Amino acid sequence: VADDSTVPRAGLCITCGRDLGAEPHLIVSAPDGEHLGCRDWTRYPWPRPFEQLERRLAGRVRAIQRALELTAELGSLLVERRRRWPLDAAETVAEVERRSRELRSVLERAGLRV
Ligand SMILES: [Zn+2]
Repeated sequence: VADDSTVPRAGLCITCGRDLGAEPHLIVSAPDGEHLGCRDWTRYPWPRPFEQLERRLAGRVRAIQRALELTAELGSLLVERRRRWPLDAAETVAEVERRSRELRSVLERAGLRV
């Protein structure tokens, strides 16, 4: 006969009493927890991690918008300078180099890479 004391019991929902099972849930006091659908959310404020995520995402959106602008501007510059090449060649090479560096740093801030 197997010794059941070493087998961890399944967690129960503290609200509905059913097995936590595969339904989305939070652990309240291991192994018991609460199904997300059973919790009385009116007793909980907007989660702090959600506030932090909102701020991070807003920053990310600004960085992506800036990266999009710089990407389009550098593309336009290349089209224009190619047309008049080799006029202003030295200035073009320096300008493309400068803008490429700027774009790389903005893409990195946006969590993207060239
Ligand atoms: Zn439940």
